[in-house]
Amino acid sequence: MEYSYQVIIVGGGPAGLAAGLYTARARLNALLIEKLMPGGQLVNAELIENYPGFPEGISGSDLGSLMEQQARKYGLEILMDEVSGVEVKGDLKIVKTAESTYTGRTLIIASGASHSRLGVPGEDELSGRGVSYCATCDGALFKDASVAVIGGGDTALSDALLLSRFASRVTIVHRRDKLRASKILQERAYDDPRIEFLLNSVVEAVEGNNRVEQLQVRNVRTGERSILAVDGVFIAVGSKPGTGYLAGLLALSEDGSIAVNANMETSVPGIFAAGDIRSESCHQVAAAVGDGVCAAMAAQKYLIAV
Ligand code: NAP
Repeated sequence: MEYSYQVIIVGGGPAGLAAGLYTARARLNALLIEKLMPGGQLVNAELIENYPGFPEGISGSDLGSLMEQQARKYGLEILMDEVSGVEVKGDLKIVKTAESTYTGRTLIIASGASHSRLGVPGEDELSGRGVSYCATCDGALFKDASVAVIGGGDTALSDALLLSRFASRVTIVHRRDKLRASKILQERAYDDPRIEFLLNSVVEAVEGNNRVEQLQVRNVRTGERSILAVDGVFIAVGSKPGTGYLAGLLALSEDGSIAVNANMETSVPGIFAAGDIRSESCHQVAAAVGDGVCAAMAAQKYLIAV
C-alpha cells in the first residue's frame, strides 16, 4: 500500500496546529484532520491571558484562528472529519474516518481531552436544559439568573468570572476547602460580589421538571444535606483524554493519557502524541504548542532515519 502523506495530524487544537505549522514549513506533505473547527478547546476560552505575546490577552477563537491561518499560509492541508480508528500496517499508519481512509508514514495524535462528567442523577437528563459544560457557549442564556459552577480549578473559576457578568448570583461548589485554581483567578473571584462559595460540598443530584431547578448538595465534613436553588449548573470538574478511537493501539499511562517520552514518541515507532492527550501534560495552551513543535521535529527525524 502506498502512503499519501508523510505526516497525518489528528486534532486541530494548539498542539495539532503547531505541529502542522512546523511540518508545513519543513515542506513535508502533511494533513491535519479536525472533527469540529480548528482551535480545539481554545474556541471555548473567552480570554486567554497567559499565552505569551499578548499582554492584553486574546480570545481563544481569535488565537485559534490566527494559528490556523499561519499553518495554512505555509501549505498545511486541513480537513474537517472525525477519525474513527487507526491501524498500523508495517511502516504505514492508516487513519480511518466514516467515509475515507488516509495513509501516512507518521502520525501525530493531538486530539485533546473531553470534559469529565460529574456522574450524578439528573446530569444527563437535564444536559442542555440548564446543565452545561461550556460557560463561553451558554453563559449569555443565564442573564439575571442564579447559577452554580462545580469544581475548584482554573476552568471553574474562569467560568464563574464569565458567568457573573450575566447571572445575578454564581455559586462555586467545590469538594474541598482549598481551590486548585491559579491565585490570580482566586483573587478576582473573591473580589466579585456576585460570586459565592460553597466549600467542602459535593453535588449529589441535579433536579428539575424538564429544566434545572435545584441541586442536592452534601457537606462532606458535616454530612449535612441542603438544596441549592439554581437555574443552571456549569460542570467544570476536569477532563479526560479522548483515546477511545485508538482502541488499544498505544501504551497508555495510568490516567488513560498516551504514554510518551520527552520527544513525544509513543510506544509505536512513527506515532507521536502532543498536548492534553499525552502523559504528564500540564494542560496549558503554551505547553500544547511546545508539544506540537517537538512532535513535528521528532516526526521529521523519523522520516529521515527510516
Ligand atoms: P482541573 O485543574 O483538573 O480541576 C478540576 C476541579 O474539579 C478540581 O478542583 C477538582 O477538585 C474538581 N473535581 C474533579 N472531579 C470532581 C468530582 N467528581 N466532583 C467534584 N469536583 C471534582 O481541571 P480544569 O479546571 O478544567 O483545568 C484543567 C487544566 O487546564 C489545568 O491545568 C488548568 O490550569 C488549565 N486551564 C487553565 C486556564 C487558565 O489559565 N486561565 C483556564 C482553564 C483551564 P480537587 O481540586 O479536589 O481535585
